[in-house]
Amino acid sequence: MAFCSIFCPRIPVRFRPKPISHFLSKPLFPLSYRVYSSLQPTPSTKDELGSVSIGFLGMGIMGSPMAQNLLKAGCDVTVWNRTKSKCDPLVGLGAKYKSSPEEVTATCDLTFAMLADPESAIDVACGKNGAVSGISSGKGYVDVSTVDAASSILISKQIKDTGALFLEAPVSGSKKPAEDGQLIFLTAGDKLLYEKAAPFLDIMGKSRFYLGDVGNGAAMKLVVNMIMGSMMASFAEGILLSQKVGLDPNVLVEVVSQGAINAPMYSLKGPSMIKSVYPTAFPLKHQQKDMRLALGLAESVSQSTPIAAAANELYKVAKSYGLSDEDFSAVIEALKAARSQQS
Ligand code: NAP
Repeated sequence: MAFCSIFCPRIPVRFRPKPISHFLSKPLFPLSYRVYSSLQPTPSTKDELGSVSIGFLGMGIMGSPMAQNLLKAGCDVTVWNRTKSKCDPLVGLGAKYKSSPEEVTATCDLTFAMLADPESAIDVACGKNGAVSGISSGKGYVDVSTVDAASSILISKQIKDTGALFLEAPVSGSKKPAEDGQLIFLTAGDKLLYEKAAPFLDIMGKSRFYLGDVGNGAAMKLVVNMIMGSMMASFAEGILLSQKVGLDPNVLVEVVSQGAINAPMYSLKGPSMIKSVYPTAFPLKHQQKDMRLALGLAESVSQSTPIAAAANELYKVAKSYGLSDEDFSAVIEALKAARSQQS
């Protein structure tokens, strides 16, 4: 060790030669392993899955079950999370652990990142000991966090400057679909990486869309969540109005579920909203972040979005009441507070 520290000069990480990965030069996985196919890998596919080392950064509500599904499918998975203890259950299931994003990308062929917001996604990718410092040509980085297009483009540029490939792949679907491997991936970026990552996306999801240039996946995700945030705010108003006029809100939920405006979200969240309990699947702070980013997207193209803007205000009020970490359905509490101020 002493020999090495005297005779081996400390070369900054960025200038150290990096091992070349053969991940992106390996043949593509069989075409039979495609979207809408059965997600159970055949034994030969399972062998191939296990031969690609997978990194996973971010063990939150979504990242944990996604990484678990990769492990269960026989993948070789290495995990990292800012709060280390959240990696323990995954390590218990057979995952390896590394102590920085840099170490994960340095040792893995393909790394997924599932982080809270643009700031954390940029920091984990481009910050000190970040993914960019460890990644190199022949490897891939797939950011599945929900961020704005500008942040995604920034991360993409830094990753691609190393010679590695980049794919943005934000997900539609919440905690349960993540657990069940039923997410929908909205991908954009390097097509070759999309094809190489496809078998792994298919383990974690039920479908995937390839949308072209980086930024398109982020934009699609923000539009989807803008619609969802407005739907939830409107549903919350409906529940409270039905109660105020003496109707049973449980019957309202049932009526809605049988009609043209039915959405699984209403049947799923309605009963607990009526009981004023909000078990967190999608944290309210993330829904407000997505409304904010969607409004920014709309402003960038001079598109009027008055309904989303009004809904965003409600989420901001709910946050100010300390509801950030509750499920986003807790937005109803902001309306209850407004009602009690009026009466
Ligand atoms: P979460 O449970 O809040 O997890 C956030 C993750 O980001 C955690 O691993 C957290 O680490 C990490 N993180 C936060 N700030 C960080 C920082 N400054 N540096 C490093 N790591 C940081 O959120 P989630 O529900 O899994 O959501 C993750 C992403 O998916 C978000 O972009 C969200 O909008 C999106 N999404 C969520 C859902 C959903 O239903 N939950 C659905 C679709 C998309 P710690 O554990 O150390 O805090």
